[in-house]
Amino acid sequence: MSAVATGGYRVVVDPGRCENKQECLDVCPTDVFDMVKPRVGNLLLRLKIRVHGGLVAEATRESQCIGCMACVSACPENAITVTG
Ligand code: SF4
Repeated sequence: MSAVATGGYRVVVDPGRCENKQECLDVCPTDVFDMVKPRVGNLLLRLKIRVHGGLVAEATRESQCIGCMACVSACPENAITVTG
Protein backbone atom coordinates (compact mmCIF):
# COMPACT_ATOMS: atom_id res chain seq x y z
CA MET A 1 0.00 0.00 0.00
CA SER A 2 1.01 3.60 -0.55
CA ALA A 3 2.17 6.25 1.85
CA VAL A 4 -0.03 9.14 2.94
CA ALA A 5 -0.80 11.50 0.07
CA THR A 6 0.61 15.01 0.02
CA GLY A 7 -1.06 16.18 -3.20
CA GLY A 8 -4.65 15.70 -2.16
CA TYR A 9 -5.31 12.28 -3.66
CA ARG A 10 -4.93 8.89 -2.11
CA VAL A 11 -3.92 6.19 -4.60
CA VAL A 12 -4.15 2.60 -3.37
CA VAL A 13 -3.25 -0.54 -5.29
CA ASP A 14 -4.64 -3.81 -3.96
CA PRO A 15 -1.74 -6.31 -4.18
CA GLY A 16 -4.29 -9.10 -4.08
CA ARG A 17 -5.73 -7.94 -7.41
CA CYS A 18 -2.73 -6.51 -9.29
CA GLU A 19 -1.38 -8.94 -11.90
CA ASN A 20 1.67 -6.96 -13.10
CA LYS A 21 0.04 -5.93 -16.39
CA GLN A 22 1.41 -2.39 -15.97
CA GLU A 23 -1.49 -0.60 -17.68
CA CYS A 24 -1.34 2.04 -14.93
CA LEU A 25 2.27 2.86 -15.76
CA ASP A 26 1.30 3.32 -19.41
CA VAL A 27 -1.66 5.63 -18.84
CA CYS A 28 -0.68 7.73 -15.82
CA PRO A 29 0.19 11.25 -17.11
CA THR A 30 2.19 12.13 -14.01
CA ASP A 31 4.26 8.95 -13.56
CA VAL A 32 2.81 8.01 -10.19
CA PHE A 33 3.43 4.25 -10.36
CA ASP A 34 6.37 1.88 -10.09
CA MET A 35 6.38 -1.89 -10.12
CA VAL A 36 7.75 -3.15 -6.81
CA LYS A 37 8.37 -6.37 -4.94
CA PRO A 38 5.67 -6.27 -2.27
CA ARG A 39 6.11 -7.34 1.32
CA VAL A 40 3.04 -9.37 2.16
CA GLY A 41 2.63 -11.96 4.87
CA ASN A 42 -0.13 -14.05 3.35
CA LEU A 43 1.27 -17.22 1.72
CA LEU A 44 -1.45 -17.54 -0.93
CA LEU A 45 -1.02 -13.91 -1.87
CA ARG A 46 2.77 -14.33 -2.12
CA LEU A 47 2.27 -17.31 -4.44
CA LYS A 48 -0.20 -15.40 -6.62
CA ILE A 49 2.22 -12.48 -6.93
CA ARG A 50 5.07 -14.85 -7.77
CA VAL A 51 2.99 -16.40 -10.58
CA HIS A 52 2.59 -12.90 -12.04
CA GLY A 53 6.29 -12.09 -12.07
CA GLY A 54 6.82 -11.10 -8.45
CA LEU A 55 5.85 -7.46 -8.92
CA VAL A 56 2.82 -5.32 -8.17
CA ALA A 57 2.11 -1.68 -8.89
CA GLU A 58 2.62 0.86 -6.15
CA ALA A 59 1.86 4.58 -6.12
CA THR A 60 5.39 5.56 -5.13
CA ARG A 61 4.84 9.16 -6.30
CA GLU A 62 1.31 9.49 -4.99
CA SER A 63 1.75 13.23 -4.34
CA GLN A 64 1.97 13.75 -8.14
CA CYS A 65 -1.54 12.39 -8.71
CA ILE A 66 -3.95 14.82 -10.41
CA GLY A 67 -7.02 12.64 -9.95
CA CYS A 68 -7.68 11.96 -13.64
CA MET A 69 -8.82 8.38 -12.92
CA ALA A 70 -7.11 7.02 -16.04
CA CYS A 71 -5.45 4.27 -14.00
CA VAL A 72 -8.74 3.25 -12.43
CA SER A 73 -10.31 2.88 -15.89
CA ALA A 74 -7.29 1.16 -17.43
CA CYS A 75 -6.61 -1.46 -14.79
CA PRO A 76 -8.06 -4.77 -16.04
CA GLU A 77 -8.13 -6.16 -12.51
CA ASN A 78 -9.90 -3.20 -10.85
CA ALA A 79 -6.98 -3.08 -8.43
CA ILE A 80 -6.66 0.70 -8.09
CA THR A 81 -8.66 3.08 -5.94
CA VAL A 82 -8.18 6.85 -6.12
CA THR A 83 -9.85 9.10 -3.60
CA GLY A 84 -9.36 12.73 -2.76
S1 SF4 B 1 -5.67 9.17 -11.14
FE1 SF4 B 1 -4.51 9.83 -12.99
S2 SF4 B 1 -2.74 10.98 -12.17
FE2 SF4 B 1 -3.62 9.80 -10.45
S3 SF4 B 1 -2.41 7.89 -10.37
FE3 SF4 B 1 -4.24 7.48 -11.65
S4 SF4 B 1 -3.59 7.90 -13.78
FE4 SF4 B 1 -2.05 8.84 -12.40
